[in-house]
Amino acid sequence: GLSLRLSAVADAIPSGRVVADIGSDHAQLLIALAQAGLLKRGIAGEVNEGPWKNASQNVNDADLQHQIQVRRGNGLDVLKVGEAEVVVIAGMGGHLITSILDRSLHKMEKLERLVLQPNNGVDHVRRWLYRHGWEIDGENLVREAGILYEVVTASPGDPDQPYRGLPLPLEQAYEVGPLLWQERHPLLLHKLTEKLEGLDRILQQLELGRSPEARQRLQQLKQTREEWRRWQ
Ligand code: SAM
Repeated sequence: GLSLRLSAVADAIPSGRVVADIGSDHAQLLIALAQAGLLKRGIAGEVNEGPWKNASQNVNDADLQHQIQVRRGNGLDVLKVGEAEVVVIAGMGGHLITSILDRSLHKMEKLERLVLQPNNGVDHVRRWLYRHGWEIDGENLVREAGILYEVVTASPGDPDQPYRGLPLPLEQAYEVGPLLWQERHPLLLHKLTEKLEGLDRILQQLELGRSPEARQRLQQLKQTREEWRRWQ
């Protein structure tokens, strides 16, 4: 079966779609979706030879070559415009994810949904989504082996009202996750506490306490955590 992290990614993918998994590595995600009868067609994209071979081998072993194509290439280069309905990018840093999206904006015109699982820099990913007219319509948080993983899904938003209905100030929403906040996700307090502890440590160690930006960010997170505690 899939790991808890990849299960959370799979849960965010609408069924019966053409799904491209960019940076698929082993292609486990698409194989599991196909085996569960939830996949119309899959395209596994890999830039590196090792993982690309791995994916091809696994798809062949599962006898799913007719349903899942494994392609070698950078990011969304492996796709034709309009070919995929859903694009998944999971298990990479947030900056790598947005750089992959940035170089292929024209490939995203007809996309129904993005499913992103950044291992870090999720605030950066949310900021990118809103700035490019994508509306976050699903968020999840799972913990596996003590590590918190976030899944963010987005669909093309209303260009006239890009930030409609955000329950938090923009900068906080990027950091905290507007839907995690709205839904009072049970792991959100852990995430905020972790972030705060991390920040406290950094501030102490590096004596960054004097930098106004660092102080402001710390203050923001403290406020958010207090508010969330009141709402619990
Ligand atoms: N998506 C899988 C998961 O979540 O378990 C695999 C994650 S793995 C850590 C990241 C994969 O992305 C690697 O196999 C790497 O080769 C691939 N990758 C990195 N940059 C890429 C790019 N620009 N285009 C396609 N694949 C890329």
